Amino acid sequence: MPSPVAIAPRNVAQWPKWRNNSSLLTNKNTTGYRGTVEDCNPQQFFGVSRFASEQYLRLREKGENVSGLRLIRLVIAVVARRSEISHSNQEFNMPVATRTLRSVHLASRPDAVPTLDNFKVVEDEISSPAKGEFLVRNEWISVDPYMRGRMRDSDSYVPPFQIGEPMEGGCVGRVIESQCPDFNEGDYVVGNMGWRDHWLSTGEGVLKVDAEVVSPQAYLGVLGLTGMTAYVGLNKIGKLLEGGTVFVSAASGAVGSIVCQIAKLKNCKVIGSAGSQAKIDWLKHEAGIDAAFNYHEVADVSAKLKELCPDGIDLYFDNVGGDHLEAAIESMKNFGKIVCCGMISSYNDSEPQPGPKNLFKIIGKRLRMQGFIVRDHMDQTSVFQRDMTQWIKNSKIKWRETVTEGLENAPQAFIDLFTGDKIGKSLVKLS
Ligand code: NDP
Repeated sequence: MPSPVAIAPRNVAQWPKWRNNSSLLTNKNTTGYRGTVEDCNPQQFFGVSRFASEQYLRLREKGENVSGLRLIRLVIAVVARRSEISHSNQEFNMPVATRTLRSVHLASRPDAVPTLDNFKVVEDEISSPAKGEFLVRNEWISVDPYMRGRMRDSDSYVPPFQIGEPMEGGCVGRVIESQCPDFNEGDYVVGNMGWRDHWLSTGEGVLKVDAEVVSPQAYLGVLGLTGMTAYVGLNKIGKLLEGGTVFVSAASGAVGSIVCQIAKLKNCKVIGSAGSQAKIDWLKHEAGIDAAFNYHEVADVSAKLKELCPDGIDLYFDNVGGDHLEAAIESMKNFGKIVCCGMISSYNDSEPQPGPKNLFKIIGKRLRMQGFIVRDHMDQTSVFQRDMTQWIKNSKIKWRETVTEGLENAPQAFIDLFTGDKIGKSLVKLS
C-alpha cells in the first residue's frame, strides 16, 4: 500500500494519464481512490495550489496547453489525494510527498560494551502528516544507560530493540508540519522517538514543552525524566529525611548530579563517587556536596566510605551496583534505605554477576532496599515540575550537559556512557 499521503506525479510525463482519469474527481472507487473537494482543508488547498501553480508554469514553459479547468481539477485531485481517502492507486504509481528520514538501527546485539558495529545509520523516506498527524524534526536526542538493556533479547520492563529496526528513546523536537489541531508548527515537543531525525505522531504520549523557561533539551535532563528519577527516587522511594547522610554513586552523571543537589537542599551530608578528578571537582565546587572520591583511584571503596561517613549512611542512592553496593551495605546505619535506581557496572556483563557477598547484613541492620522505575511514578510529574522549576529559577540546581553533534555520532555518545569521560546529561544535537 502506498503511503497515506501522496501528491501528483513528479514526472510530468505521467500527468496526462493522471489528469484524464475521471475517477480522480468523483467518488467512484474504481482505482481504490476517491475524493472530492469536501475532503480538503484550506491549509492543504493552499499548499497544493502553490504546488499546482508551479507545475502549471513548468508545463507552460514546455509549451503544453493547460486549461484553467484542468488546473482546478488537478488541485482538487491532489488535495483529495493528500487527504488520505484511500490508498491503493498503484495504477498511477504516484510518488508520496516525502522527505528523507535518517535513523539509527540496531545492527547486532552486543555481548559486552557496545561497539559502533552494533549500530547502522539508515536512510529512508517519511511522508507528510495525514489528517490528525504532525511531523516533528528532532533537535535533541537522549542517550541513556537503560538502552543497553534493550539491546539484549530478553524480557524486561521495556521490550528489546529489534535487529534491523530503528532504536527509540527520549527526544525533543519541533513540529514542522501539522494536520493535528492540538499541535502547531513551531511547538516544541518531547517524545520517545529518538535515534532519528524526523517522526510522525498523532500526539499520543507526546508532551508540548515551554522552551522559554529553560533550553528545550533540559526536558530530557533536569526537567525531564532524568530529573524526575532523582526526585522520585529520593522522595518517594527513599523517603529522604532532613539532615541525614546520603551516598550517591555515579554522582556526576545525569541522575546522580541532581540527586546530590536535592539531598543538599534537604540539608543532608552528601558523599559522591565518580570516575575522574574533573567530576570530583565539579561535585565539590559546583554541586556543593560535602565529599567526593574517584573510585578508580581508591583501592577499597568500603574503606573510603567508612573514612568519609564514620557515623554511617542513612540513604544510599545506587546507580552502579557491584562493589559500590557492597561497600554501601557495609556502612549503612540500622534502618537505612537503599534506593536501587540502576546498576550500570553490570550492564555489559554477558552473565549476571553474584550479588554482594555481605547481603546478609540487610537483616541485622534492618535495611530497606527498593528498586523503582521512574515511569511507574508519572503521577509525580506536576509536583516534580513545580519544585524543579522553582529550584532552577532560584539557581538552587546546576546541571551539566555533554553534547555530541550529529545523528551519525549518537552510537559513540551512547558507548561513552560506559567508557567515556562524559559529565552530566549525555545528549546528541541534530542540526
Ligand atoms: P549517567 O549520566 O550517570 O552516565 C553513566 C555514568 O555511569 C558514566 O558517566 C560513568 O560515570 C558511570 N559508570 C559507567 N560504567 C560504570 C561502572 N562500570 N562502574 C561505575 N560507574 C560506571 O547515566 P544516568 O544518570 O542516565 O543513569 C544513572 C543510573 O540510573 C544508570 O544505572 C541508569 O540505568 C539508572 N536510571 C534508572 C532509572 C529508573 O527509572 N530506575 C531512570 C534513569 C536512569 P563515572 O565516570 O563517574 O564512572
